[in-house]
Amino acid sequence: MQKMIPLSIPNFEGNEKKYVNEALDQGWVSTGGAYITRLEGQLASFLKTENVAACQSGTSALHLSLIEAGVGPGDVVLVPPLTFIAAVNPVRYQQAVPVFIDCDDSFCMDPVKLRSFCEEECLFDGTVLTHRGRAVKALIVVHVFGNMADMEAIMDIAGKYHLQVIEDATEALGTHYTAGRYEGRYAGTIGHFGAFSFNGNKIITTGGGGAVTASESAKVDHIRYLSTQAKDDPHYYIHHEIGYNYRMTNLQAALGVAQMEELPEFICRKQANYALYREQFEGFPLAELMPFRSGTASNCWFYSLKIDRNEIHASMREIITALQDRGIQTRAIWGLINEQLPYEGEETYHLEKAPYYASRILNLPCSTQITREEILTVCREVKQLLENLANCS
Ligand SMILES: *Cc1c(COP(=O)(O)O)cnc(C)c1O
Repeated sequence: MQKMIPLSIPNFEGNEKKYVNEALDQGWVSTGGAYITRLEGQLASFLKTENVAACQSGTSALHLSLIEAGVGPGDVVLVPPLTFIAAVNPVRYQQAVPVFIDCDDSFCMDPVKLRSFCEEECLFDGTVLTHRGRAVKALIVVHVFGNMADMEAIMDIAGKYHLQVIEDATEALGTHYTAGRYEGRYAGTIGHFGAFSFNGNKIITTGGGGAVTASESAKVDHIRYLSTQAKDDPHYYIHHEIGYNYRMTNLQAALGVAQMEELPEFICRKQANYALYREQFEGFPLAELMPFRSGTASNCWFYSLKIDRNEIHASMREIITALQDRGIQTRAIWGLINEQLPYEGEETYHLEKAPYYASRILNLPCSTQITREEILTVCREVKQLLENLANCS
């Protein structure tokens, strides 16, 4: 039997073992150590931003951003329905209230619906936007699959209504604008806060890990302070605020420093592999490989194939299982967050595109070490399966 082509696995071709061993040899395994500050420096220079705080996960990065943005009990935070649930859970950690705003064709928050929600469902007194008596404090925009949200439009709306913008750039490390007002600016460095993740399937990994940046450098310093139990005196255990144990460890950072050295190469491979997939699906009538936003250079983290539902009625589960049997690991886009049990009662605003894409997007294998032959195999098998399914229905 041919071996399985995985969806997305980590790649350790560089100095990972060397650096992790060095951290072990030096005994610096915990939340202090030179690799942490080195990784923060690498990230800041790569992202062309001033200050980055390394932390324990993308989820903790988002949680710290919400805290620093001043989101508290009863506040409204505008969130996406079509994303990984970790983008929304921190809203609940702060006892704030999510309202789900639809996505556009980039899978990211739709600025047209965001604007009409603010105009038609809220009151603005010149300082505070309120929705049914609650302050709308912030919005979380997720750059889904390495795409970039329409940040020009979103920042304009947020500016008008005094909303804090938290960019969930966990999937978009390296994605940046190549044209327009934000030319040269990276996902995660345009809003007030930007969160990154280095979980196992992200474009670089530290096992588990994340990072935060902010438009104001002092806020990053305060986030770093909160992430280390808000220690005001390192020797006598004096604390003036409630802190968290959210700092990255030096062992994770050692892995991260090696991965950052490889990031430009990983992005090149993801982009080249995406181009090959695109070429293969060009003109194929039963499915379309979704593009990334024009005017941006995407890190091409995940590839999305949109299945034609007029022709193919098999469920995502059936398609994924059939491909699994052919030695190809794929996955469906997420179940909508507003349909998950803990969010069932929450408010949604004109969700149309999110359910549309949820029922037809298939993610294809995208590891950085995937070979040309493997990609051609994936394309051949996927096309064959979809043709068979179309003939059956
Ligand atoms: C991966 C991911 C997260 C969470 O990151 P962790 O490091 O796993 O906590 C948050 N949001 C999105 C969109 C993600 O893909």
